[in-house]
Amino acid sequence: MAEVRVNLEAHSYTIHIMPGGISHVGALMRRLPLGDKALIVTDENVCPLYAGTLTDSLTAAGFTVAMVTVKPGEGSKSLTAANAVFTEAISKGLDRKSPIIALGGGVVGDLAGFAAATYLRGVPFIQVPTTLLAQVDSSVGGKTAVNHELGKNLIGAFYQPNLVVIDPTALETLPDRELKAGLAEVIKYGVIADQNFFADLAAAAAALLTREPAVLATVIGRCCELKAEIVAQDERESSLRMLLNFGHTVGHAVEAVGGYSEYNHGEGVAIGMHAAGLISKGMGLCKHEDVEILQQLLSRMGLPLTAPGYSPQALISYLQRDKKMESGKINWVLMTGIGQVKITREVTDSAIKEALAQ
Ligand code: NAD
Ligand code: ZN
Repeated sequence: MAEVRVNLEAHSYTIHIMPGGISHVGALMRRLPLGDKALIVTDENVCPLYAGTLTDSLTAAGFTVAMVTVKPGEGSKSLTAANAVFTEAISKGLDRKSPIIALGGGVVGDLAGFAAATYLRGVPFIQVPTTLLAQVDSSVGGKTAVNHELGKNLIGAFYQPNLVVIDPTALETLPDRELKAGLAEVIKYGVIADQNFFADLAAAAAALLTREPAVLATVIGRCCELKAEIVAQDERESSLRMLLNFGHTVGHAVEAVGGYSEYNHGEGVAIGMHAAGLISKGMGLCKHEDVEILQQLLSRMGLPLTAPGYSPQALISYLQRDKKMESGKINWVLMTGIGQVKITREVTDSAIKEALAQ
């Protein structure tokens, strides 16, 4: 079992990486100043797998448990789903000290976090992530949001959890495609911040793909440490935190052009990291071999490098609308080597087009 402490200016919390951790959530919550009512938010896939264990652990620790189960998928990051959480919270009499607990992937985490940030102007929030993507990325750092019909993640808040409990054994039931999507975010950490970690990933690829619990726990722990360090220095993404968007500029475009159904988030990020690598190489920022090493690891993890059939022009049109555009220019995160990136706003359309055409 490992612990990572996230120290922010006005708030700090612990991430517990703990095989079998779901059955310890109640006891860990009892260390915090919480009321006796708790509301679990989960989805229809995760509920039958893990909600019983979580409920038992909460009941054993003296909590009265309510639950909202939403449909799986991005569609549940909506104001309608948030309203269902509010209705349950109000009708079960949850007060300012009553925690909302996210049990599920990034969709449930973002939805439950948004509800926790806004119900009664903020109630305690606990993350129990069950996808690799949520365990290494979305459950840490405090970004919460629901979608608007005009765009993703447009309605939200920075709202930090009070506790994160990561149970790597919950990944045993995760579909292969979702596991690989999480591995894209894992690879991202190596590229942006840690060359040795990147090399370790290449060596551990087989163990990760077969879900060896000890290897998963070590890798998840390192990702959480790296994210915690970055978020501690820039909670609201005014500078350093932007590095976490490596691969996300083109990645978001790929997701959007595919109508959020063809490629999932991690696959979009894999394609986006490859494109960012090619742009970096095209601009002379990194070596040809750096991009090759990245390509090899992405392929080894079964991730796509390109989106065949997607025209560079369609992707570029989406980029023009990207909400990360500031004063008409995108903050591109580009590679200067494995383990090193830089932010630049000076990327020409032709450099992007050339990379996307490869
Ligand atoms: P997800 O929540 O949709 O989960 C993927 C699928 O796996 C779902 O069908 C879910 O029901 C199922 N599932 C979850 N855990 C399972 C388990 N243990 N066993 C079997 N099935 C399981 O997807 P995700 O990839 O976890 O999250 C994607 C979302 O996260 C996106 O909405 C994205 O915007 C958001 N996100 C947020 C942040 C952040 O910082 N807040 C960062 C990255 C991504
Ligand atoms: Zn991401």
